[in-house]
Amino acid sequence: ISCKTNNENDLALNDIKTSKTLSIEDKVDALLAKMTLEEKIGQMNQYNGFWDVTGPVPKDGDQAKKYDHLRKGYVGSMLNVRGVKDVKAVQKIAVEETRLGIPLIIGFDVIHGYETLTPIPLAESASWDLEAIKNSAEMAAKESSAAGINWTFAPMVDISRDARWGRVMEGAGEDTYLGSKIAVARVNGFQGEDLSAHHSIAACAKHFAAYGFAESGRDYNTADVGTSTLNNIILPPFKAAKEANVRTFMNSFNELNGIPATGDKYLQRDILKGQWGFDGFVVSDWGSITEMIAHGHAKDGKHAAEIAANAGSDMDMESYLYVEELAGLVKEGKVDEKLIDDAARRILRVKFELGLFDDPYKYLDEAREKEVIGSQEIHDAALDMAKKSIVLLKNENNLLPLKKEGQKIALIGALAADKTSPLGSWRIAAKDNTAVSVLEGLNQYTGNTVTYTKGADVSIGKEEFAFEIKVNTTDKSGFSKAIQTAKQADVVVMVLGEHGFMSGEGRSRTDLGLPGVQQELLEAVYKVNKNIVLVLNNGRPLTITWADKNIPAIVEAWQLGTQSGHAIAQVLYGDYNPSGKLPMTFPRNVGQVPIYYNYKNTGRPVLPGEDVVFWSHFQDEKNDPLYVFGHGLSYTSFDYSNLKVDNTFSNNNTVTVSVDLTNSGKVKGKEVVQLYIRDLYASVTRPVKELKGFELVELEPGETKKIQLTLTKDELGFFNNQGEFIVEDGDFEVYIGGSSKTTLQDKFTL
Ligand code: BGC
Repeated sequence: ISCKTNNENDLALNDIKTSKTLSIEDKVDALLAKMTLEEKIGQMNQYNGFWDVTGPVPKDGDQAKKYDHLRKGYVGSMLNVRGVKDVKAVQKIAVEETRLGIPLIIGFDVIHGYETLTPIPLAESASWDLEAIKNSAEMAAKESSAAGINWTFAPMVDISRDARWGRVMEGAGEDTYLGSKIAVARVNGFQGEDLSAHHSIAACAKHFAAYGFAESGRDYNTADVGTSTLNNIILPPFKAAKEANVRTFMNSFNELNGIPATGDKYLQRDILKGQWGFDGFVVSDWGSITEMIAHGHAKDGKHAAEIAANAGSDMDMESYLYVEELAGLVKEGKVDEKLIDDAARRILRVKFELGLFDDPYKYLDEAREKEVIGSQEIHDAALDMAKKSIVLLKNENNLLPLKKEGQKIALIGALAADKTSPLGSWRIAAKDNTAVSVLEGLNQYTGNTVTYTKGADVSIGKEEFAFEIKVNTTDKSGFSKAIQTAKQADVVVMVLGEHGFMSGEGRSRTDLGLPGVQQELLEAVYKVNKNIVLVLNNGRPLTITWADKNIPAIVEAWQLGTQSGHAIAQVLYGDYNPSGKLPMTFPRNVGQVPIYYNYKNTGRPVLPGEDVVFWSHFQDEKNDPLYVFGHGLSYTSFDYSNLKVDNTFSNNNTVTVSVDLTNSGKVKGKEVVQLYIRDLYASVTRPVKELKGFELVELEPGETKKIQLTLTKDELGFFNNQGEFIVEDGDFEVYIGGSSKTTLQDKFTL
């Protein structure tokens, strides 16, 4: 590799990189032909760059090794280098100092915005607004690309039915159909129409696969799922992302049915690259190749590299194992060089598509960085998304919206003034204290007096990567002031929930109640003033069963990002009519978990009016959840009528379902019309309800609109246990309404 290219070769190399006539495939082939084995393996190596890359070059240790590898052309990608100045520093080495000058692809976790944060993905999913979600991803791409980022490790498309798992905040919730639609919206938003455009970044569908099915919701834990769940529930959002041309996949930390996903040939080569024909590349999760040793699957690092490369993991994130072991493994005949070519080809292909070879510095424009990051356009989009993400869970006696003047409002709860928690987890580029708090949001409305007092702490996370969250469980010294303030108020707004770092990676919980003494605070305040509006800030469903029974108004405000307080205030005052619907079931009790709307009936379903004792049930809790999937109220009301099912399936392969939707209230509002089906009997049993269509509709008061949704084979079939997609004749029920609880029903026969 010490050989220098002569001028003739340089020319040819530049021709390959920038040719306007050669196809990308030709360019990749021509470039590959010039590469040594070590350089090809170098493309498969990704390093973390969490240090001052513009500072002095370290002389020894890990970072020195990384620089050395970078100069030799043994690094294909870096993550966590951000900002034009820093990205330029590493990109310059790759482009100007290595033999072939192949640019790096710069990856970053742009999970919900970059420096300007949008709501956490679970919250955005509650909007069911695919255009808004796409736009939010587009804005995130715009902002992060201005900071030199080429590639995000998003969207996370893992389905999860377990609120104990802290990473539910990063996904689209429990449903495969909704999750697939959202996966596509996010991929399209990040990647845009033209991946090589300045404002587009490559997306990554993760974590392939079954990461959201970790046993007991403990992050990284074993997943053991059958073929039916794998094919019908877990894989479809990944397939949808692939169909939307997502350019990369990330595999996962967990083992699935005994094989760590990183080393799973069936998942990566047979399904993804084989059956689905995916031609982008797969990146490992952070160190997940090394983790195969602890899993008990690989003997040592060398063995782990062999397994991962053979299984189809194209890029090694921060395990150092490919760069150290792969060349030797090829020479020993344990890894076929053709597989190395295939992996390098996939990575180079995406780099060409991104336009990195045309101009590796094109993302690196300081003027654009200044102009775009934190721009008004991006803040406006974040506010729009934040409002759309809010779910009104309960509103008795029309306590909400608040009157705009003449009221004394007590604002209670540590989260009410918190300017960091609303940013949620995954906020590496955002600074602390940059969210608009609820206190600030409410204070923009000046017709009422707002008196704030904390009442009690939530919990303190020292920093994002401090996995130990200290929960303050005992300090009630702020209670008496809270009670005094509440006594003097007309309405009490309590902002309670989880600290921003209580959900996310590694943040599993066994208790889904309000952390610390917040529940006690809520009950103490309730004793003196029952006019409470409970605003929840949280990254997962919580078991707020007592609150549901006693508190008249409950607003699910998740972690809404930079514009949080503005969005919440606009909803509380009725300047924005909420329309969000839950993308995940809220349990009554953590013991019900996993709990989800599309469950299967047992042979002993609990039937209305029957003696429960003999049926599948709990002795100490109801079977049904606190809030069902798809639940969410509005300041207006909607009526559904005239459900009609037109079954002309045998003629044109579709079933058309129509319904009249009327806004029967006094204000304009939006409703998510949800269509569910039930296949009553099948060779593989089907869930009691499955979402198969939805539409977001806005109506003026008194307005009626006919909504028409269609079902095709794709919605009526399922994967059998041989993994084949089949549509069976039989009887189907159709349900339509404003949540998965709807009983408005008709049927048809196939
Ligand atoms: C997470 C990934 C993430 C990666 C890079 C891992 O720990 O599981 O989702 O993209 O780190 O930060």
